[in-house]
Amino acid sequence: MSKKRVYLFGNGKAEGKTEMKNLLGGKGSNLAEMNLIGIPVPPGFTITTEVCTEYNELGKEKVIELLKNEVQNGIADIEKIMNSKFGDKENPCLVSVRSGARVSMPGMMDTVLNIGLNDEAVIGLTKKSGNERFVWDSYRRFVQMYGDVVLGLKPASKEEIDPFEKIIDEIKAEKNIINDTELSTDDLKELVTRFKKEIKEETGNDFPEDPWTQLWGAIMAVFDSWNTERATYYRKINNISDDWGTAVNVQAMVYGNMGENSATGVAFTRDAGSGEDIFNGEYLINAQGEDVVAGIRTPQEITLEGSKRWAELTGTSETERKELYPSLEETMPELYKELCEIETKLENHYKDMQDLEFTIQDGKLWLLQTRNGKRTGFSMVKMAIDMLKQGMIDEKLALMRVEPNRLDELLHPVFDPDAVKNAKVLTKGLPASPGAASGQIVFFADEAEELANENKDVILVRIETSPEDLRGMNVSKGILTARGGMTSHAAVVARGMGKCCVSGAGAIQINYKERTLKINDETFKEGDWISLNGSTGEVYEGKVETRDPELSGDFGELMNLCDKYSRMYVRTNADTPHDSEVARNFGARGIGLTRTEHMFFEGDRIKAVREMILADDLAGRQKALAKLLPMQREDFEGIFEAMHDLPVTIRLLDPPLHEFVPKEYENQKEMADEMGISVEEIKAKVESLSEINPMLGHRGCRLGITYPEISEMQTRAIIEAALNLKKKGINAIPEIMIPLIGTFQEFKLQEEIVRDTAQKIFDERNDSIEFLVGTMIEIPRAALTADKVAKYAEFFSFGTNDLTQMTYGYSRDDAGTFLPIFIEKGILKHDPFQILDQEGVGQLVEMATKKGRSTRPNLKVGICGEHGGEPSSVKFCHKVGMDYVSCSPYRVPIARLAAAQASIEE
Ligand code: PEP
Ligand code: MG
Repeated sequence: MSKKRVYLFGNGKAEGKTEMKNLLGGKGSNLAEMNLIGIPVPPGFTITTEVCTEYNELGKEKVIELLKNEVQNGIADIEKIMNSKFGDKENPCLVSVRSGARVSMPGMMDTVLNIGLNDEAVIGLTKKSGNERFVWDSYRRFVQMYGDVVLGLKPASKEEIDPFEKIIDEIKAEKNIINDTELSTDDLKELVTRFKKEIKEETGNDFPEDPWTQLWGAIMAVFDSWNTERATYYRKINNISDDWGTAVNVQAMVYGNMGENSATGVAFTRDAGSGEDIFNGEYLINAQGEDVVAGIRTPQEITLEGSKRWAELTGTSETERKELYPSLEETMPELYKELCEIETKLENHYKDMQDLEFTIQDGKLWLLQTRNGKRTGFSMVKMAIDMLKQGMIDEKLALMRVEPNRLDELLHPVFDPDAVKNAKVLTKGLPASPGAASGQIVFFADEAEELANENKDVILVRIETSPEDLRGMNVSKGILTARGGMTSHAAVVARGMGKCCVSGAGAIQINYKERTLKINDETFKEGDWISLNGSTGEVYEGKVETRDPELSGDFGELMNLCDKYSRMYVRTNADTPHDSEVARNFGARGIGLTRTEHMFFEGDRIKAVREMILADDLAGRQKALAKLLPMQREDFEGIFEAMHDLPVTIRLLDPPLHEFVPKEYENQKEMADEMGISVEEIKAKVESLSEINPMLGHRGCRLGITYPEISEMQTRAIIEAALNLKKKGINAIPEIMIPLIGTFQEFKLQEEIVRDTAQKIFDERNDSIEFLVGTMIEIPRAALTADKVAKYAEFFSFGTNDLTQMTYGYSRDDAGTFLPIFIEKGILKHDPFQILDQEGVGQLVEMATKKGRSTRPNLKVGICGEHGGEPSSVKFCHKVGMDYVSCSPYRVPIARLAAAQASIEE
């Protein structure tokens, strides 16, 4: 039997189901499933995601050949259920063609509606519907959409408007009307004529009247849209594989624009921004789906409660609200009730928040889509905990429901309440995606990217956003739009990104050509500062100060659950008491890395450090080190105190010494004066320290081996600090870590220094403490000989920053010049300095762990490279059997959740 490429659904039957998401895409599998659970869905069929891959390999003609029979069958099935005929003049059957990948990529790919309309079908449809205006409105939308999506008629430049919108504006100007709804049937006919003329002029071809040509054109355009720049970019930032492909859904059209008894809308079973368990959404009477999300008309709320909240936010009076913007609950109470029953059924069925699209055609409700809704990090946590408490999901599922990286949003700053009191509110829009953001105004997505690259904070200000703006949105601190409701593209995408967004701020006027933003009587230019509160919709003048957020109860509950399920624990990389405290509050169970060199730059110490480096002999170095000792001891006391009763790994000096000496003449001169020597002497010393490849040069334990007195001083500072605290009744647990070893002999030499020094102090003070001596594994040779190293080392901590550098042979500091190109060309999937390369570097990590434990079964193993806070890498660390991961303080909650998920996934 030949391969099945098309799956039918309709009339309560379906060949697919939710579990077939990979093959049918999210939309297709859920359309099938909705049929199976008795929800009204217009009939149709899904062309599988595998065909998208075939299309990319074989091209258009071959794929049409492969699909022909099955698609014809599919259309015949729709015709039978709808009792109409595709391409018929009397009783035409019209279809929509929509994309639908395995995971939803909102707005990133293409859709074509009203396929099958042509100069003859309009006559049949007019007879059938008895509504000529609706038919011509559908026809002009179809020609416009087809012209854009399939035939590629786009705006000429970013400042220009869409060529079809331009024609609409012309006609409106000629007829002296303001709203699209005021266009007469004759105006719409004229629009179709002018649209077709534009198409002929731009493409050289007539608009295709043949429905089958239209259908194949639309199907191929949807496949093509998988590879558009915006879709590719969306996949990249969301870690979606390019190989998955999109499915194509062909479905009978239902119309929300058939008159006052028709409507269309988008709804969420819970609030995607706040996580609240309230049904919400927007709709428009006598409209098509894109009208709701595109922000051309002001969408109305579905529920009365939502409508009242909206009126309050927008300053709309109750009379005006009731008259102009009533809720669906008020306008169509029976259908509203039916919709509520469906939303409850869907949420209970999928056990997750659903994002629905529906259409009411002449008093009948149809569901066009359901999917797990995008949500903010905050609502992700709230919904997971709420659903757990409601008994809808269990603890493990609750933990799996939160994407670890999204916790980051909960830790973002909020506006300082005092600063807000004094800030000037310019206007108010809809609180589309929570958060606090300040930045400089920018009007175009590409320019937002350029400025963000210069490390500027920007707020992207648009009339409305479209999928083309994705990159710009991604790099902006916040997004402000003049149009669009809570379900607009800007709102949905911003929530998905966890980015602050205020949408539908009706009082703002944007002039792209002049690059100005007018709010009431004030004009703001590109580059001016504004601030947005995505939780209230307020827009402030200038930069409003922020402060750290207070973490909610749900967050705490989620974190407690993590501990219940994870096997690994999480430490932090911290060099100061403050960072240690922050991390401890986030649940860090110790320090995995203190980089002692960071302290060397504090205050006056850099002078003593330089004096040590520039000294000519041992006596000179010891004199300088004696100055450093009390300062380091004090640093360690602070950290030990903040981390009392928890282990603290302190690494001995690591970076090459040239990093500490002044390079500029001015600074060298200052230093020379301070030390009472000539600038030439300083210069000569600095030159002698310079290395061709410092990262592979005189650094790490190589320093401690050539200058044992440095290791001695640092050990003394650590041990004395711990003993001092012991006297005060504070329990310090030091773990001394030797950096950058490649052979066990290096470790052994350093370990001896550490242990001898400690013993000396114990004898001096007649007191002692427990401590460990271990090493970093960051040179491939150390990993390869880990069994020998572990005979001496009491713990391993993988320094995967250096280990990645040395395994790939990519300089950590210079790889930026070629890594982006490598990723673009597909040589690398990710930056290996951010996401651990499990295939290569991972082998070394796994092997070293095994080898180390072969000679020391109770060897403590952890990771302290940047990867220790990256979820997929954390899961890998769990798999190879590490005891802990260590990461920067603000990533501790992320790592805790990833560690719990690793256990659950096992
Ligand atoms: C590492 O190499 O992974 C590490 C933690 O050390 P550093 O980044 O300080 O070289
Ligand atoms: Mg390192």
